Amino acid sequence: MIAEVIVDVAAHPIDRPFDYAVPKELEVLVEPGMRVKVPFGNRKVLGFVTDIKETSEFDPSRLKPIHELMDVVPVLNDELLAMAKWMKKQTVCFEIDALQVMIPSALRAKYEKRFVLNAPLEEIPEPLRIYFGNRPFVRAQDAVEVYALLKKELERGTVVADTDISQQTAVKKVRMIHIADSLEQLEAIDIRPNAKQQIKLLEFFKEHIGQAIESSDLQRAAETTLPTIYSLADKGAAVIRNEESYRDPKLLAEIERKGFLQLTEAQQTAFDAIRGALQTPKTFLLHGITGSGKTEIYLQAIDEVLKEGKEAIMLVPEISLTPQMTLRFKERFGDLVAVLHSGLSAGEKYDEWRKIQRAEVKVVVGARSAIFAPFENLGLIILDEEHESSYKQDDSPRYHARDVAIWRAGQHNCPVILGSATPSLESYARAQKGVYELLVLEKRAKNQPLPTVHIVDMREELRNGNRSMFSIPLAEAIRERLDRKEQVVLFLNKRGYSSFVLCRDCGTVMQCPNCDISLTYHRSSELMKCHYCGYDEPVPHTCPECQSEHIRFFGTGTQKVEEELAKLVPGARVLRMDVDTTRNKGAHEKILSAFGEGKADILLGTQMIAKGLDFPNITLVGVLSADTTLHLPDFRAAEKTYQLLTQVSGRAGRDKLPGEVYVQSYTPEHYAITLAKDQLYEPFYDQEMAMRRASGYPPYYYVVNIQFTHEDLMTVAGYAEQTVRFLQGQLSGSTIIIGPSASLIARVNNRYRYQCLIKYKKEPKLADVMQQLIKIHRSEWIKKGATLSIDMNPTSV
Ligand code: ADP
Ligand code: ZN
Ligand code: ZN
Repeated sequence: MIAEVIVDVAAHPIDRPFDYAVPKELEVLVEPGMRVKVPFGNRKVLGFVTDIKETSEFDPSRLKPIHELMDVVPVLNDELLAMAKWMKKQTVCFEIDALQVMIPSALRAKYEKRFVLNAPLEEIPEPLRIYFGNRPFVRAQDAVEVYALLKKELERGTVVADTDISQQTAVKKVRMIHIADSLEQLEAIDIRPNAKQQIKLLEFFKEHIGQAIESSDLQRAAETTLPTIYSLADKGAAVIRNEESYRDPKLLAEIERKGFLQLTEAQQTAFDAIRGALQTPKTFLLHGITGSGKTEIYLQAIDEVLKEGKEAIMLVPEISLTPQMTLRFKERFGDLVAVLHSGLSAGEKYDEWRKIQRAEVKVVVGARSAIFAPFENLGLIILDEEHESSYKQDDSPRYHARDVAIWRAGQHNCPVILGSATPSLESYARAQKGVYELLVLEKRAKNQPLPTVHIVDMREELRNGNRSMFSIPLAEAIRERLDRKEQVVLFLNKRGYSSFVLCRDCGTVMQCPNCDISLTYHRSSELMKCHYCGYDEPVPHTCPECQSEHIRFFGTGTQKVEEELAKLVPGARVLRMDVDTTRNKGAHEKILSAFGEGKADILLGTQMIAKGLDFPNITLVGVLSADTTLHLPDFRAAEKTYQLLTQVSGRAGRDKLPGEVYVQSYTPEHYAITLAKDQLYEPFYDQEMAMRRASGYPPYYYVVNIQFTHEDLMTVAGYAEQTVRFLQGQLSGSTIIIGPSASLIARVNNRYRYQCLIKYKKEPKLADVMQQLIKIHRSEWIKKGATLSIDMNPTSV
């Protein structure tokens, strides 16, 4: 028997499975989708079995054997194994990267597998006893000969498999005390009359015959100690076992179950269309303004799927995966929901993943990577806020969760719902062409009016002598809300706003020594930091160029706004939410719930407050500068601005009190701003599509971004130049190749970055050409220290 294994060897020039011999004792156990340790060169490496076969094109007697089997149950099923091959083609990545991204990080780490005794040694068959002996566990590599026997015991539950990665990520065990289940047995126990503690505990046991209690709970309830429990267990009054348990992320307290809402007419129409297609691999684009009741439709559609005995995946952008969102799902589906997001520890994620794998849950709500949930019987996949760029992974494999969703839906014959108030241009264009079915919700579910949006011309403010970052109308509106005890959200787009440090005499801006980027000043630590490579240093007392002492901090980060706000409305209670204040686990939730409980008047923050915030008392939203996103060097700048303004405005007036929004801008006549004012999506779409057509960007053209890095500028420029010439020779005449040029940030971590761009409409040879390029890179450039990255559909260029 021969196993095909994809090995985890970084950037190996050959990306294909290697054949390994399967040792006799593993033949009955090994299955595709299991992880193995195999010899590779003179090391042992991790790999995934992708296929089992009888013959090899290589001399079977010379094949190396699998060293160790890491799993008892495959971690990847056939669908996911096939998906890895598809992803490799789609995103031009290594197959191993595609396989690794599908499993929880806990399983990717360095670890050791062991088998742990879960019953008294006497209950274990003789041949196995020698392995356990006086120790409670056997390391997997020591147990290869008895693997078949172990597997049987695993099924009986006398042995459990334990992936011991580190204290933090291992399977969590609790000590369970199983009290004997007959009174006679307890009465027969002989205790010395002076062993008061034991007598007391035995009485407790008699009142709880046959129950299983966690050791710490028992100690509390029976006011006893662990040694006492052990002495009684030795006498046969109880059995003590270490049992697997799930970590409880404790995101939510006791949850009250809730029923479904009566759908509005518009919701019902959309819902009926989805329900009618539950057995079809069809993609719906649900275009509904914020608060129009999309989530309620998702919940009810999922309910239909569960009734069919199938499962559902609900993806939300990381940042919208708030406790409020989780609560809505748990209220409807209770324990059938698993939640996956970056706030969980590796161990907690692993626990949630195991619940999915064991089919103990039917719904997963999670960020991007939850698209790989190993469900076997999918009935529906939903991407909420489908336009969000966080659905695309930044590094290899550079997949888009939307593409993966549609691929999986094809495998399971089930629909996909893409939901958004501001669909991506790509998705809306597909809906226009009839590739997706468009469903529309035009009104808010509770019929609240949209907030009134005012656009403030900041040039006018300047002309009138107001140099503050707050315009007169916004400042007045803030004061008014504070008087009325209503809440305010202030939104500062962080990008382009970082605070830099400058010498006022010679104009030198403090730069990162490793990157072509200025350092950002952090007030809390009084350090200047590089956001690209992590470099930091204290602010110098004198200018390194001219020795002047006139060093100044510039820019308006959130901290700066906070200070100005304190001058504008002294005494107002302000909460700040940005990368600095949300670094700790749970900080995000803490700030939000404090604001929700009315512990502050103003919430000031970056992108992260744009979504998910649903509090009735917010009646004013201020956007301090709409221009920062608008002027990003990115073909999506207008689209992102429109999306952001719509999102932020959606935070005001969600309940009974009407909402008002002030958008400050130096280019208030730009269509992305004027059309966002009244949420006129279609006119925006038309205008933006015309721009994309004129400039040759998606959705009219597909784009590929190819980037090289190297320590030496001339070398990297040379590789990029050779690449452009190679592509010109290979690709069709209608394809546009741009570059080579230095990347926007031309040096990071002392490596120079060069790129070129391919724009094409139809290029059947593209996948092949990319493979050829990779081959050239791996056989020549990689040895000279270059890196190559290919992004097939970059979210921004
Ligand atoms: P979206 O996901 O489009 O932003 P939600 O589903 O969150 O919209 O709905 C917005 C608000 O309206 C929520 O408070 C929700 O409870 C309420 N809602 C949604 N559908 C209904 C309905 N059919 N009847 C009453 N309230 C509804
Ligand atoms: Zn200077
Ligand atoms: Zn740097």
